[in-house]
Amino acid sequence: MNKHLIFQKIIRKEIPSNIVYQDNIVTAFTDIQPKAPIHILIVPNDFIKSANDINKKNKDIFAHMLYVIVNIAKEKRISKEGYKIIINCNKNGGQEINYFHMHLLGGKKLKSLY
Ligand code: AMP
Repeated sequence: MNKHLIFQKIIRKEIPSNIVYQDNIVTAFTDIQPKAPIHILIVPNDFIKSANDINKKNKDIFAHMLYVIVNIAKEKRISKEGYKIIINCNKNGGQEINYFHMHLLGGKKLKSLY
């Protein structure tokens, strides 16, 4: 199966996942291989391949994704201690699934990446 189809199937609830939030624009679900006690992915419901595909027409989606993910961090009670929001883009950025997503990581002290 083409890897980006996995996220499409999660959004459509065609394969099992742990969806923590969904509206008509975005879906957020727990990462299957968590790198931190809280590791949630958020995706736009309509397919966008990578950060390179942000444009004038769709840019509001990304603001909404950020808004939702920060609210999830508050709900999960990791906002006070802090968290990371990560976007991997293409090969050098370590993007394994070619469906745009943001990672929310928290619940422990995370290493700086640089
Ligand atoms: P990235 O390297 O930024 O493309 O991240 C892809 C993420 O998707 C990884 O952290 C994977 O663990 C996660 N992932 C892959 N398949 C699934 C799945 N079926 N459900 C939840 N997360 C997944």
